[in-house]
This record gives sequence, structure tokens and C-alpha cells, in this order.
Amino acid sequence: MTRARRHVRRAPPRKVATTRRRRVVAARAHGKVNLDLRVLGSRPDGYHELRTVFQSIALHDMVTAQEKAGPFVLKCRTPGVPLDDRNLVWRAAAALWRALGRAGDPADTVVTIEKAIPMQAGLGGGSADAAAALQVLGRLWGGAPLSLLREVAAGVGSDAPFFLSGGTALGLGRGEEVYPLVDLPRHWIVLVRPPFGVSTVEAYSWYDEDRAAGVREPRIDVQILPVPWPSRAAQMINDLEAPIARHHPEIDQMRTALRRAGALAAAMSGSGSAVFGLFQKRADALAAVERLSGSGWRVLLTESLDRGDYARRSRPMLRRRAA
Ligand code: ATP
Repeated sequence: MTRARRHVRRAPPRKVATTRRRRVVAARAHGKVNLDLRVLGSRPDGYHELRTVFQSIALHDMVTAQEKAGPFVLKCRTPGVPLDDRNLVWRAAAALWRALGRAGDPADTVVTIEKAIPMQAGLGGGSADAAAALQVLGRLWGGAPLSLLREVAAGVGSDAPFFLSGGTALGLGRGEEVYPLVDLPRHWIVLVRPPFGVSTVEAYSWYDEDRAAGVREPRIDVQILPVPWPSRAAQMINDLEAPIARHHPEIDQMRTALRRAGALAAAMSGSGSAVFGLFQKRADALAAVERLSGSGWRVLLTESLDRGDYARRSRPMLRRRAA
């Protein structure tokens, strides 16, 4: 056999595509921080009336929905994440299924959550996952208008409607009434998460105890951000911070450490336990990360997202996989 002939290869016969393609839709579920959070009072329904300023961040979980015959299944490898109707994604799926007029329980779908947002940290991970699930399931289940997703989101969790639009926004009521604000110019954000979490229920019960006992909160300096932005709406005051810091003094230490490490402003996010600091320059934020690492706290670097960025990054992506 000559050298030339040895190298002759016949093209393999083309495979006829017999495998069915399964549709898969995935979306990023970006977290948030609260640039301000005021508790205006208690409501007859047991919730608190709030005025808060939400800010989207780049740190995100990933939510993927895939067609698969059989009952609805929720998957997540992170320990501590419930995989039943205690998970906001499960509740979002069930509520959307009903809102689309389908009978019984959701079916023929597997949803996978990949967590990166620390839990019980006030970063809105569960609500962000729920909103992302509404987006991907709406797409997978034949389309759902945004107005319907907003309605369903409000029933799933107070913060969930915010995650359907993101950016910088005002939250009223329980936080479910969302109004877009002028977006915060991009900031680098250093997140610090202590070894303990705080549940939302615990946070508000400590707040109520302090009110009932007539505790006077220490005055926290108003931190106006030195940027061309109508920052009076967001003075980095969180009314839940002092009651939580009374149970976990580390919260105060974390805020002080962030300011000392160069943050323009620092505050606890939502109902804690994460504290965040804002930086204009990436190098300064990186220096703070360096300085705070070794503190025993989990330290993460992320950045703020405006509404446009948020819409681009959190858009559902359609893929097809062999069945
Ligand atoms: P928020 O900022 O809205 O107060 P959080 O960041 O404090 O939320 P999450 O991480 O959203 O808290 O979740 C808190 C608890 O909710 C978890 O401990 C878990 O038991 C439950 N949970 C429900 N759905 C999810 C989810 N998709 N991901 C993580 N936790 C979830």
C-alpha cells in the first residue's frame, strides 16, 4: 500500500438525526443589596411596611429548566437548600403553572439551581432564583407575558417582583411594589458574610422586640455617596441593622472594618447577615478584599448592575440537548 493510499479516508456515513432534542432554558439569577431600608410600621397582615432601595449586583445563581417527562423535580447540590415546596422556585413554578390555567401540579420539567449567592445573607438569593425560574419556565411552558410574571412573583415573595426588572429601584409596601430609580453609577461592591446567617423572621422579631422595649437606636452617620446621583433616596441606613447587631455584634465590626478598608459607605444588606461596602475604583475594592481576607469572614468582590446590564445578563437563554 502506498503512503498516499494509506491516508485516504472515506467520510463516515452521515448519521440521520433520530434523537429528539430536549429544550433547556437557563437564566442568571442576580442578587441584590439594599442601599437603604426603612421600616415604616407594622401592618394588620403581620408584615412590615417598608421603604427600601434595591440595587442589583453581578453575583448570581444559575437557574436551568429542562423538559423531562414525569413529575416536577427540583435539583440543587448546595447543602441546606430545600428541594420541595419550601423552596421559592418550587412555589414560583406551582403558581405559574396555575396562572397559565394548567390543572394539577407542575410536570414534565426539571429545574436545577446552582448557588453562588450566600444564603440567609440579605442578598435575596431565594427571591432572585424564583424570579429567574418564572422567566425560564414562562419560556419553556409556551410563553407568559411580563405582567403575568409580575403578578405571580408578588405572590411568591416580597422581593421577587424587583428581580424581574433589577437595576436601582425603590421598593414600597412589603417591598413588592417596585419603582425604577435613576441607576446608581457603577460601583464595586465588597460583600462580607460572617459565619452565621440571619433568617428574615428572626430579624423582624428582633426589630419588633426593640420597638416594644422602647430601645433607642444609636445614630448611624448618614453616608451620602460622593457621586453625581440623586443619593438622598439611599443614605445607606438600614433600620434592621441595630436590632441584629445587638444579637450579633460582629455586624458592627464588619461595617467598621469595611470603612477602615476604604469603603465610601458600608451597611448591612436587607435582613442580614451580609454587610457590603461601596468602592468607585476596582483597585481599592481589591485592596479591601485583601485586607479583610483572613478575618474569618467570607469576602466576595462584585459590582453593581444598572437596569440595562441586568436585562442583558439575566435574559433567558434557550439551548437544545439530545434527549
Ligand atoms: P432575603 O434577602 O430575601 O431576606 P436571604 O438572602 O436572607 O433573603 P435566602 O438565601 O433567599 O435568604 O434564603 C433563606 C432561606 O430560604 C434558606 O435558608 C432556605 O431555607 C430558604 N430558601 C427557599 N428557596 C431558596 C432558594 N432558591 N435558594 C436558597 N434558599 C432558599
